[in-house]
Amino acid sequence: MLEIKNIKKSFGQTDVLHDVSLSVNKGDVIAILGPSGSGKTTLLRCLNFLEKADGGTMTFDKETIELHKASKRTIARIRKKTAFVFQNYNLFANKTALQNVTEGLIVGRKMPKDEANKIAHEALKKVGMEDRSDYYPSQLSGGQQQRVAIARAIAVNPEIIYFDEPTSALDPELTVEVLAVMKRLAQEGMTMLVVTHEMNFARTVSNRVIFMEKGVIVEQGSSKEFFEHPKEMRTKEFLRIFQ
Ligand code: ATP
Repeated sequence: MLEIKNIKKSFGQTDVLHDVSLSVNKGDVIAILGPSGSGKTTLLRCLNFLEKADGGTMTFDKETIELHKASKRTIARIRKKTAFVFQNYNLFANKTALQNVTEGLIVGRKMPKDEANKIAHEALKKVGMEDRSDYYPSQLSGGQQQRVAIARAIAVNPEIIYFDEPTSALDPELTVEVLAVMKRLAQEGMTMLVVTHEMNFARTVSNRVIFMEKGVIVEQGSSKEFFEHPKEMRTKEFLRIFQ
């Protein structure tokens, strides 16, 4: 479904991604793990063109593009197949939960308001936020805000959802409710690429793990293999911290 080859990215003198390649199949839930500063977030942001990669190709549904040459129109077309969930939710403060979800449908997808409202209500129901649809972000907990952000992502019916450390701004109990929503999405077959420090999520929900360090993928494989039989010394050291 999605194949990435040799993504490169530098910020000034700092090389952040060195020829990172990965492939995503429909229904994959891939946890991207690694120490702080290893390039995980940058990778995700390059995949959704929130950062412009310096090189590399993306093949999405058989269409191949060179990342650093992608036109605005190509970017818009590919973005329509994806959704992005941010660490800090990125909700509009002056819009209700419902309006946050309908905004992308009405403005981005030119959907009639009635239809957008119907889809948004369904999405909010899915994340257990239907009864808060008229609340503003400031009236919601962090976990609730993140669930609204996930509803917004689901509502556009994406082929893949990118999650950038979706629980790292949350207290443990709020983390649990967000992870439960993500687990349900995974079980329903949603394709997800998740940058996370949640080892339990990676171990129990994701089917594959990518472990990055210093801008390269050090090891990748099935979650089971990764956690039970890590191959690389660096991976073993990383996992030891969490045992
Ligand atoms: P963490 O787990 O702490 O979020 P990460 O693995 O997601 O880390 P990135 O956020 O991708 O790492 O950052 C990788 C490197 O790129 C870091 O050295 C960071 O300082 C640098 N970096 C990221 N964004 C920028 C930017 N906009 N300008 C300059 N340097 C940046």
